[in-house]
Amino acid sequence: MALSLAVLKRFPSRMTKIYKSAAILSSKYFKDVADMERVSRLLESISSLQGPSVEFMAENKWDYTKKGTDWSDLCPFGPTQSPVKINSEDSYPASQCFIEKYYPLDLHYSPITTRGRFTKRVYILHGDYGQMHVFPPREKTPRIFDSVQFHFHAPSEHVVDSQSYDLELHLVHKDLKKGTVNAVLGILFKNTGKFNPFIQLSIDSLEKPVEIDIGSLLEKEPQFYFYHGSLTTPPCSENVLWFLMTKPLEMDEKQLKFFTSRWSENKGFAEGKGNNRDVQPLYNRPVLHFDDQDCMH
Ligand SMILES: [Zn+2]
Repeated sequence: MALSLAVLKRFPSRMTKIYKSAAILSSKYFKDVADMERVSRLLESISSLQGPSVEFMAENKWDYTKKGTDWSDLCPFGPTQSPVKINSEDSYPASQCFIEKYYPLDLHYSPITTRGRFTKRVYILHGDYGQMHVFPPREKTPRIFDSVQFHFHAPSEHVVDSQSYDLELHLVHKDLKKGTVNAVLGILFKNTGKFNPFIQLSIDSLEKPVEIDIGSLLEKEPQFYFYHGSLTTPPCSENVLWFLMTKPLEMDEKQLKFFTSRWSENKGFAEGKGNNRDVQPLYNRPVLHFDDQDCMH
């Protein structure tokens, strides 16, 4: 409680917000007030995040040749850009941060029949495959995000513990009530030689409509990293709640070639550099790590 009061004193204008989140945090875990305040603000973003109504940029205005370093005219380049490098040891384990058990995510996915297509920059499949419910701490009413599409990057955009992965799937959701605020669930894939039925269906959908069940990729309560970030393509809007599954999934070489022959091994596309944006500075953003069975319902 002493720590919470210290926060209130320093930031009286944000009294209500800080107090609300700080109340569920265990002050013992944090090394100082600023540390705890950063996590409070991340939690606050679940219910308060809003964004301007923006359209995705026309594709011919940008490319991946310079990995996004030349997008300064197209992106705001604020302090919460994505993708980022995540260091698991620096992330805040939820099981130790919270006084109460807390697992914020409820995924309501169902199979859809859809087709995939290559745009100039990405392989994308559109459809409404369900909703992501994100629960602010101690609140029973979730913030609801509707699924709109999923797409792939090769190699991965996020880097975890200095490791880049072969492929990254982005499940894109929008809070339709609040304009274009997004929640993205990222899943990393590694070529281990093991056939992946979900990836195969996604590939097959280029030729014909296919029934795809995204839920088949997920465990009951998937473990993930959580941080406040941005779209990774122009206009790079900083209104995204990012969830990145901690467990990479497997795929085989032939499946990976479907993506790399188009991007990361194709000299004709961005000089063979792939369709991933460079990692962006984390600055002081906290990353939460939901990985302990004890902290889940
Ligand atoms: Zn993406």
